[in-house]
Amino acid sequence: MALKQKIVVIGGGIAGIEASSILSRMDYDVTLIEKTDNIGGHVAQWDRLFPDQRKSDEIIEYLKANIPSNIKIKLNTTVSTIAKSNTSFVVSLSDNELIETDSILISTGYDLFDAKLKEEYGYGIYDNVITSAELEKLFRENKPILTKSGKEPQRIGFVHCVGSRDRKINNIYCSKVCCVTAVKQAIEVRQKLPYSEAYCFYMDLRMYGLSFEEIYNESQEKYGVTFIRGRLSEAAENKEGQIIVKVEDTLLGRPMKMTMDLLVLMVGMTPSEGTSGLIKMLNLETNSSHFIASKDEHTQSNITSHPGIFVAGAATSPKSIDDTLADARGAVVKILEYLNSNAQ
Ligand code: SF4
Repeated sequence: MALKQKIVVIGGGIAGIEASSILSRMDYDVTLIEKTDNIGGHVAQWDRLFPDQRKSDEIIEYLKANIPSNIKIKLNTTVSTIAKSNTSFVVSLSDNELIETDSILISTGYDLFDAKLKEEYGYGIYDNVITSAELEKLFRENKPILTKSGKEPQRIGFVHCVGSRDRKINNIYCSKVCCVTAVKQAIEVRQKLPYSEAYCFYMDLRMYGLSFEEIYNESQEKYGVTFIRGRLSEAAENKEGQIIVKVEDTLLGRPMKMTMDLLVLMVGMTPSEGTSGLIKMLNLETNSSHFIASKDEHTQSNITSHPGIFVAGAATSPKSIDDTLADARGAVVKILEYLNSNAQ
C-alpha cells in the first residue's frame, strides 16, 4: 500500500518519538530529524523520575519498542532551511538532503537554564555548587556524591527556581517540574547519605501532580528534609570550600546565613537552541515565556502561526513527561485534520 502524505518531525525527544510513531503506524510517511546521535532527549539523560523513582530508561525503552519500522530516523542531522512550496514545504538538511513534505511538526523541546547567568549563586565559580542535572548524572552513573575535596557532604542545599520566576533575567514563568525534582533528589541524597542534612530553599512549592503531595510529606516525615521559604540572595565560598548562603526566611521574616557542603541549583527550562533557531528561521510568533506561541493556548495549542507547521511538547512551554506525551498525541490529531482537509 502506498504511504499517505509526508510529515517531517524535527526533534527526537519523547514528543517527537511519540508523534512519529503514531503517524507512522497510520501509514503516513514520517521522517524524524534528531541533532544528536540518539533519540530520547532529556529523559534519556535522567536517572529516576518523580514521584516514584521509576527509572527513566523504562519510558525510553517503552517508546522505542513502539517505533514502527517504516519511520525514517536521521540522527546527527539538523535543519538548514525550510521553504514553502504551494501547500507543501521543502526542508533542507545539514547533510544536503532535501525533503518535500506536506506538514512539519516541531518537537525541539527545551534546554536547561545556564546557571552561570545567575552569577550570585556561584555556579562555575565555586567547586561545590552544581546543577540538578549534574546531581542526576551522578545518580545515573552510580557515582558517589562527594564534595570537591573528596568528602561526603553533610549539609546539602537545594535552591529552587534557578532561571525561572525571576524578573531580573526576564524569565517570569514557572518551569513546573523543578519543585518535585528537588524533593525527589533530596530524598535520594538522604537515602544515599543517611547522616546528611538536606535543605530546600523555595519561593513557594508547586507540587501539583498525582502523588506529589505524598512525596513532599514523606521527604519531611521519613527523610527529615527541611524546607525554608525564601529566595537565596547570595552564595559565597569560605576557606574550607563550603558554601555560605544568605537567604531571607519569608515565613519567619528574618535573614539567615547557613553553611552548606554542597549546593544544588534546580535549573529551569528555557527554549532549546533548536526551538529558538526555528522561531527565527520561520519567523514564528513567541509567547510571553519566549517559547513558540500556540495559535490559541486553550483550543489550538499544537497549531503555530504558520498553516501546516505544528508544535508539540516543551517547545511551547515547560512540561512534565506525561504532559509532553499527551501534547504529542494532541498534535497528531491536529496534523491529521490538516492533512485530511488538504487531501479533499
Ligand atoms: S516548579 Fe518550583 S522550582 Fe520550578 S520554577 Fe516552579 S516554583 Fe520554581
